[in-house]
Amino acid sequence: MSEDSKESTTGKAHEVGHSADELTAETGRCLCGAVSFTAAQVDPGMHACHCSNCRRWTGGPSLSANAAGVVFEGTAYLTVYESSAWGERGFCRKCGSSLFFRLQGSDRYILNHGSFDNPDHLKVVGEIYIDEKPSSYDFQGEHKRLTGEEFLASLGITPE
Ligand SMILES: [Zn+2]
Ligand SMILES: [Zn+2]
Repeated sequence: MSEDSKESTTGKAHEVGHSADELTAETGRCLCGAVSFTAAQVDPGMHACHCSNCRRWTGGPSLSANAAGVVFEGTAYLTVYESSAWGERGFCRKCGSSLFFRLQGSDRYILNHGSFDNPDHLKVVGEIYIDEKPSSYDFQGEHKRLTGEEFLASLGITPE
């Protein structure tokens, strides 16, 4: 009887097709609320990243959405950690919530799914760094699964 509490949500999830030109405005915040953001243009088609950096940083595979026009409030609590030669990651130094990845110096953000106020607006459309995914879990669904090398190549970055 424990499964009786599961509510039917059929019909909703599949109405939202991935289309990069359907950008939406979204809001979000960290766990404690010291840092919040508004994002004018969010691509609702998320990528799941299985790389070891994301897993260490978020506590699991990261689900995140590309965004532009992002404005933060509470920047006194927003700390940026340089996580690689080209990437950096922002988090709240009061509660520790991981909030975004971005290329260093870029004004385009990859915002973490967990920080959005309306996460139902977003949907996984692909996976990256599939070659670093541990065997502990799998995502279902028909979508692209790129290795780290394939993903970097799609960005025009050649790893050394
Ligand atoms: Zn916080
Ligand atoms: Zn990653």
